[in-house]
Amino acid sequence: MSNNQLQIARRVASLTPSVTVAFTNRAKLMREKGLDVLGFAAGEPDFDTPDIIKQAAIDALKAGKTKYMPTPGDTASRAAIAKKFTEENGIPGCTPEHVIVSAGGKHSLFVACHCLLDQPKPGEPAQEVILPVPTWVSYAPIAELAGGKIVEVPTTVDSGFRMSPEQLRRAITPNSRLLILNSPSNPCGTMYTPEDLKAIGKVVEEAARTIAPNLLVLSDEIYEKIVYGGVKHFSIGSIPEIAERVITINGLSKAYSMTGWRIGYTGSSGAFGLAFTKAMAVLQGQMSTNITSFIYSSIPVALSKCADDVERMRLAFAERAELTNARLSKIPGVRNIKATGAFYAFPDVSAHFGKTSKGGAKINSALEFCEAILAENLVALVPGEDFGGCGKNHIRISFACSNEQINKGMDRLAEFVGGLK
Ligand code: PMP
Ligand code: GLU
Repeated sequence: MSNNQLQIARRVASLTPSVTVAFTNRAKLMREKGLDVLGFAAGEPDFDTPDIIKQAAIDALKAGKTKYMPTPGDTASRAAIAKKFTEENGIPGCTPEHVIVSAGGKHSLFVACHCLLDQPKPGEPAQEVILPVPTWVSYAPIAELAGGKIVEVPTTVDSGFRMSPEQLRRAITPNSRLLILNSPSNPCGTMYTPEDLKAIGKVVEEAARTIAPNLLVLSDEIYEKIVYGGVKHFSIGSIPEIAERVITINGLSKAYSMTGWRIGYTGSSGAFGLAFTKAMAVLQGQMSTNITSFIYSSIPVALSKCADDVERMRLAFAERAELTNARLSKIPGVRNIKATGAFYAFPDVSAHFGKTSKGGAKINSALEFCEAILAENLVALVPGEDFGGCGKNHIRISFACSNEQINKGMDRLAEFVGGLK
């Protein structure tokens, strides 16, 4: 029986589904059906979570830590995260009360956006969210759902996908509320240098003093430990003049290979940071409360005892970045720059638009490219359209997999491209 009067709420019905999640799930389903699909879609390290982190959770579970916990997290985790933000990232005035743990960085981002952005009142302009693009597919939908209006700042391969301070200055208006930064970048694999970020910080500081007093920065640093191109990671929240305006998002998913655990956190500074963290706790307290009780014990362990594991994985990613770039640079019409951080290659494949695949598929977009190579050569990639801007000319390749898989996948990509007419 169907009733076409029944409808999903407009704000969700119009929400763009995550294309990264969609292609990852499709590849999984095809593999379950017995197809030899090579997955390069998931932004997920292939390593197992370090044993010492698992043991802490097992011990907590066995010790009966199975009850509700304080919404922002247990005391030990908040203290360990505040110490990390202070000592590793140089964020001034970040105390345990400036930290809240959420169910993954995506959840942190979601709750943070709802605490920082308002739906416009009738007749009032929307709050603007400045987003250098291409960027991770979830920022725009989440910020828009919270009431923000996205102002895209285009970047290109030629600028290393970096927004210049001048571009930022031009994008800022009296309605600017949030600047979202992500370095190292998903999907570009590139980074801002400390000098770039200091220059961006200066623009933020000037704008906040003059035309945009409500401007804040949301700095997503979830890939900070996966860097290998000679660029040092820098936290914009460490700049004292703007520290109180910066919310830093991070989590354990990528650095510690813990995507399924769902641990993300934010850190902030000063009086506004305290008010923000309290607001996050109020919203999260009406949403999901604490994260799974017995995984808190793993947070201080990961942050203080796993440097060797992080280094082992970092070195593997460095080698894979090298291999992926070497293989891509030999494929005609595929323009790539070598990643310096995270684990993504983001080559421009638009030279092939207008062609037809061996299987007869017309390739006029990144989406059609990815659909065809998945169907014909069993390689799962992510089309670049939803990353914004020039992303529509690009495909994302997550090289968080073995060298053997990278070589096999690049063989298939070369074969697919070779068959385009
Ligand atoms: N930020 C970026 C840039 C990401 O790529 C991801 C991966 N999904 C996240 C945040 C969130 O990761 P998680 O929710 O697993 O912590
Ligand atoms: N961040 C990862 C990716 O971009 C995981 C999937 C998601 O949450 O988007 O693939």
